Formats: sequence, structure tokens, C-alpha cells
Amino acid sequence: MTPLCPRSLAAVGAAMLALSLFAVPADAMRLDEPAPGGSAPQRCIDAQAQDSGARAATNGRQPDHRDLTVEEKQAIEQRADRILREKRFSSYDAGTLSVDVPVYVHVMLSESGEGNVSREQILDQFAALNAHFGGQASPEAAVTGFTFTLKGVKRYYNDTWHTGGESVRYRSLTRVGGAGTLNMWLVDMGGLGIATFPSDYDAAPKKDGIRVHYASLPGGSIENYNLGGTATHEAGHWLGLYHTFDGGCSRPNDQVGDTPAQRFPTDGCPEGQDTCPGRRGLDPIHNYMDYSYDRCYNQFTGGQSARMANMWTAFRADDGRF
Ligand SMILES: [Zn+2]
Repeated sequence: MTPLCPRSLAAVGAAMLALSLFAVPADAMRLDEPAPGGSAPQRCIDAQAQDSGARAATNGRQPDHRDLTVEEKQAIEQRADRILREKRFSSYDAGTLSVDVPVYVHVMLSESGEGNVSREQILDQFAALNAHFGGQASPEAAVTGFTFTLKGVKRYYNDTWHTGGESVRYRSLTRVGGAGTLNMWLVDMGGLGIATFPSDYDAAPKKDGIRVHYASLPGGSIENYNLGGTATHEAGHWLGLYHTFDGGCSRPNDQVGDTPAQRFPTDGCPEGQDTCPGRRGLDPIHNYMDYSYDRCYNQFTGGQSARMANMWTAFRADDGRF
């Protein structure tokens, strides 16, 4: 099967240059989901990554996220629609939903203290998250109903956890809150980030959350990916969004009507790129759910905002969070 998180060779080369800015530990390949072909960063290795299960299995661990087939995606849509009908949640409600998401940040340091981030960096990340979800980066950006509030920062010193190993264990041991609480683990892993989907919460609540490379926070050392866009991208998945290039040029792509179809993930910020010339619109290279450079990101769409509101209501709301 075709991986949905590929990067061009040029991107891999550039990414490996970027990675050389910080040390990659020898045990990095024990990650649950190492980047294909080496340790080049990927925007994300998430539940959509078709090859992620196989890679996890080669490490002797159970895959900690699912591949999603077309049938599974259809089942998620049907399940969400049924719950929304039961809750009498309409498209009007989706347009007016306002949610403040409590967030716990878990800094997974090595035993010698590598992977540390300052509180200022974390606050800068939250400013970025709220600017992005608040539509502040572009006049064309949707103002989603989501804001994020930092509730706590916890620091752990464990060499294995620092490099992303034993992720099922460390997530289950450290996770805080219910379905509506975002847990963000900052690690040093082969990719830039990993996310779980809202529809998976019921089956695996202790694994729920996002893992983000600590050096992708604002001021971090990963060139082109250090303005906080990775956490926004992963939070988008956590709220139920797929990649804008999901499904390529075929329908229904990412299940969102106002994100033009896109054949490939974007590398860099190529204005005017159109990888599905037979379909309406240029590639949405400025969308947070593409793989563009952080400085290229500036928007979620109205359709994505509505989808996040729907997915929140179907799978994350009313969980007794604190
Ligand atoms: Zn992604």
C-alpha cells in the first residue's frame, strides 16, 4: 500500500540536513514509528499512515494506531452522523460551537536532560496554537471554535521515553483527563508528530493524544518546522481532520468540501502548485493539514472547522473533563 506520509527525496535530504542540527540517539530506531528510509522528519506519522503498523510490528510491539481503510473511514462517518443526530447537533450548531480545550504537556527528557523546552517555548506554542485555530494568520482562515489552555507541564526523565519508545506504556502512565483533554507528549522521535483520532478514544482512551517533536516548538532546532505548526497539525488530527492530500485526487479526499483535492503532500511552500489539475482549485498548500513548511501554513477552512466541531461533539464532548 502507498504510505500517506511520503516526502520527496528533496524533502528527505533537506530534512536530514535539518536533523543534523541535533543529535539522533543510537536507539532512535526503537521508536514505534520510525520515519521510512531513515530518520528524516515527517510532518506526521499518524493513524492514517498505511505503513505505520508494519513498522511498529517490526519493533516487537503492537501497533499503537490503526491504519484506516476506506471502509473504516466510512464507518467513522456513519458513527459520527448517528451520534450527531442523537444529540440533535446541526450544521448551525457546528458553526457556533465554542470549546476551550484543557491541555497537559508532558516533557519527556533523557536522563541527562536532553529534550528540555523552556516554559516560554511552551507558552509560545500555545500562542501559536490559539492564533492558528483562531484564524489569525490569514484573512482567508476560518475562526474555529477551539482554544487551548495550558493546565499543566510535567517533566519525566527516561531515555527510552525520550526517544519515543514504550509510547503505549508512558502514555497510559502519564495521561491526564478524559476524551476532551488534550495530552501532548514532547519527545525526540523519527518524525515530527503523531496523533490519535477522536473516533479511537473509546477503544483506547489511555493512548489518546498527540506526540510532538520537542524541537518543533517555536524556537526549536528543526529548520523550517520550528514555528509550532506541527502541534497545530497534530491537534487537527486529534480533532478529527485528515490530511488535505488524503485520498489523492479521488473523492471524497479528506471528507471536507472546501479543501481542494491534492495528489501529494507539499514540500516547502510552492505557490501555485496544482497536483490535481482535473479538479477544482490549487493545492491547499497553506492549510495546516498539509505538510508544508511552518511559515507556509496560515489556515484551516470553514469546512475543516465544521468537521472538528462535529467530531468533537460526537466523540469528545461530555466526558466529565476537568
Ligand atoms: Zn498528519
